[in-house]
Amino acid sequence: MVNLKYSTNYLLHDLSSQQLDQLKKKAVEAKNHSYSPYSKFRVGCCILTKDNLFVDGANVENASYGGAICAERTAAVKAVTSGQKDWLAIAISGDRIDDCTSPCGICRQFIREFASLDMPVIMLNSDGSQAVLKSFGDLLPMSFGPGSF
Ligand SMILES: [Zn+2]
Repeated sequence: MVNLKYSTNYLLHDLSSQQLDQLKKKAVEAKNHSYSPYSKFRVGCCILTKDNLFVDGANVENASYGGAICAERTAAVKAVTSGQKDWLAIAISGDRIDDCTSPCGICRQFIREFASLDMPVIMLNSDGSQAVLKSFGDLLPMSFGPGSF
């Protein structure tokens, strides 16, 4: 766990403390829009774009379980379809107070399309009081993405 607020981590050098606080807050709050009657595990996500826009999303489940979409991909699709393809950071908050939630494999590959390998990924517990910080490249090493072919 890292205390992001006072972190001097190089991954966060492009973010102001206000942006970081907002990003965390919006990821935590995005869980309120989750539709998760089956897993009952709410996830919220927020992407900070280079235009300084905060684009949030939550997981949306379906009676046909395979049709569910994660919070990260919800936010990613909202960002891209709003013309926001250049991202500074992403934050994720799951519904556990004692653990931070990380993106699933499908979401990591999906995010790879738009993320630089040094983009910070901030994984939060449910209220944002705990965080794990990684570069996107650490979460998806040797990845296949744009420019790989
Ligand atoms: Zn996912």
